[in-house]
Amino acid sequence: MYFPIKQKRRLYSRRQGDYPFYLYDTPRRNIAVGKKGGAEHLQKFNILNLIILLIISTALFTVSCPKPANISKIKQKQEDRLAIQRYIIGVSNENRSIESVVMGQGEDAILIMASVHGDETAGTALAFQLLEYLRKYPIILEGRKLMILPTVNPDGSVRNTRCNSRGVDLNRNFSTGNRVNSKENGLFPLSEPETRALVRAIRQCSPNRIVTVHQPLACIDYDGPGKDLAEHIAKYCDLPVRRLGAMPGSLGSYAGLTLNIPTVTLELPEEADADAECLWEQYGAGLIAAILYPQPADFSIHGPAAARAGKRSPSASGCFGYCQ
Ligand SMILES: [Zn+2]
Repeated sequence: MYFPIKQKRRLYSRRQGDYPFYLYDTPRRNIAVGKKGGAEHLQKFNILNLIILLIISTALFTVSCPKPANISKIKQKQEDRLAIQRYIIGVSNENRSIESVVMGQGEDAILIMASVHGDETAGTALAFQLLEYLRKYPIILEGRKLMILPTVNPDGSVRNTRCNSRGVDLNRNFSTGNRVNSKENGLFPLSEPETRALVRAIRQCSPNRIVTVHQPLACIDYDGPGKDLAEHIAKYCDLPVRRLGAMPGSLGSYAGLTLNIPTVTLELPEEADADAECLWEQYGAGLIAAILYPQPADFSIHGPAAARAGKRSPSASGCFGYCQ
């Protein structure tokens, strides 16, 4: 763009040198520095300056605005800090992915899973709430590694059935001493791809403790050496510890009795499939307690500051009750 010299002086009234050179392309300067002189040379010089201005502006804009690729790198950096990794640990009978999220890199490994039974979906919502919480407060995972399996039985979840798409109860399909072969339990141990994927996940995670979220029995059950863990969790959520006994071919029998891993089944009530935030308010502290075990859970569902400020509001039973 070319400004007549009078307008130019009005717009940029300071001394030359106070602004970048491309603001001083006045006819006077061109005439002073030009060897050829004349209107033709002046026009060429202005076009050249315009191109330079355009290039510099484009370069500045490009540098200052993060590209989509850079944004994904920033996100990746944040995830690197939390050491979040996502795996597909297997596929279901109907070829749906069974996903795991691994956070933290410490030696104390914890495995939390949900929706082993496809019609018990409250645990999946709770697992995603836990993921969000840990993104906010990654300090909880210091010295720990957490593997979360939000949906072990994706076919059952889609169909809203307890069993998988072949009608097999995955929680009766593990290889255990008390297993019974049947059509509903599977004709042989680990007959289902979902169960085999879960066994691989346990081997990969090598957990010190396992929490599996079910419905609708409204209690905290345990298998193997899981009594202390169950009682610890019960201090932070409004569910009683109740021993249900080792079910044949169940995860509890496999992990708790065969592998000797403290295994707790968090049985949420049937009506627990309310909205996810409400679930978190009621049972989130129980999951946080399971992660921090055996340390006392000095993180409330609202974070460490809320815990210090006494924002936790224990009910008469010593548990948290925000939602009715
Ligand atoms: Zn169940």
